[in-house]
Amino acid sequence: MSKKTTDTSSNRIGEFELIRRFFCSDFPSSSDTVIAIGDDASVIKPPANTELVQSIDTQVADVHFPATAPAHLIAQRALRCAVSDLAAMGANPQGFHLALTLPESDADWLKDFSDSLKKAAHELNIALMGGDTTRGKQLVISVAVQGWVALNQHGNSQALTRSGAQAGDAIYCSGPIGAAALALPQVLHNPADISGFAQAYYFPQVHLSLGQQLLNIASSCMDISDGLLQDAGHIARSSELVLEIDPEKIQYADPQKKQQCLTGGDDYQLLFTSQNTNAIAELQQQFPTIHQIGVCKKGPANVILTGPFSDITATSGFSHF
Ligand code: ADP
Ligand code: MG
Repeated sequence: MSKKTTDTSSNRIGEFELIRRFFCSDFPSSSDTVIAIGDDASVIKPPANTELVQSIDTQVADVHFPATAPAHLIAQRALRCAVSDLAAMGANPQGFHLALTLPESDADWLKDFSDSLKKAAHELNIALMGGDTTRGKQLVISVAVQGWVALNQHGNSQALTRSGAQAGDAIYCSGPIGAAALALPQVLHNPADISGFAQAYYFPQVHLSLGQQLLNIASSCMDISDGLLQDAGHIARSSELVLEIDPEKIQYADPQKKQQCLTGGDDYQLLFTSQNTNAIAELQQQFPTIHQIGVCKKGPANVILTGPFSDITATSGFSHF
């Protein structure tokens, strides 16, 4: 934080009043917190025999969400999207830092924003540890999340990665794909409308419990944020394998729009691989939407679609540049 501004009109509040009013109370607490908001940095005491897992996610107005979308929708969505990265690693959330760039400091907007953020933080059980608040031309929400993964009995890392898939592993998806991508025209046209597929866009399910239960079961895992096909390519490259996917086995938000569902973003389902079919069958009792979509095979890193969609390439997902 550097430049400070003083707003005088009634609904505008200064930087420190803003932080105090909207970000200092009623968020969940974490037993690992030594120092949270109010000092130059937060201090956290790691639980014994755990590893720290960290990730940051930035959402830019008119890139990740419409600039006119209601504060209460984008605040909680930004947190969900960020925490999804912890789920993908199998981590247990501890806390987050929030960097907010605001075109203006409107108290009503900020109240809606912080109320929604608090609600989602309680739901995901993640404490607000600090942040940064600046003025800028465009609304930008950056959420840095952190959590813990227990070390195994030999003191080794158990965190789920993209690189552990093996030839012969089955490929699974935690649920149907495509709803958020199919919601986009509606979201852009009427950002406040949360009916239909917009539910999936604004309230992505964060698969924390599944991610944690996959720790000893999955050989690789990631969350699908940029389209199933493109993201499968990340596992293929990191694990140096062929991911052979059968599009007929995938569950689609709209089976009439398979192509859009395969390449659209913002799903936040978990994509994972495993050889442990018994453990997966047991997990399916608890998470019935888990479905097998393919198998890993030896060969140069690639995603291959069997059947009628073989003309879609694994690179046809979302990319900023
Ligand atoms: P510094 O100048 O040392 O960067 P700031 O003055 O920006 O600190 O912030 C003061 C305190 O408020 C810090 O503890 C910081 O973590 C916290 N903070 C600032 N902005 C936010 C925010 N949007 N949400 C939560 N905490 C925040
Ligand atoms: Mg400082």
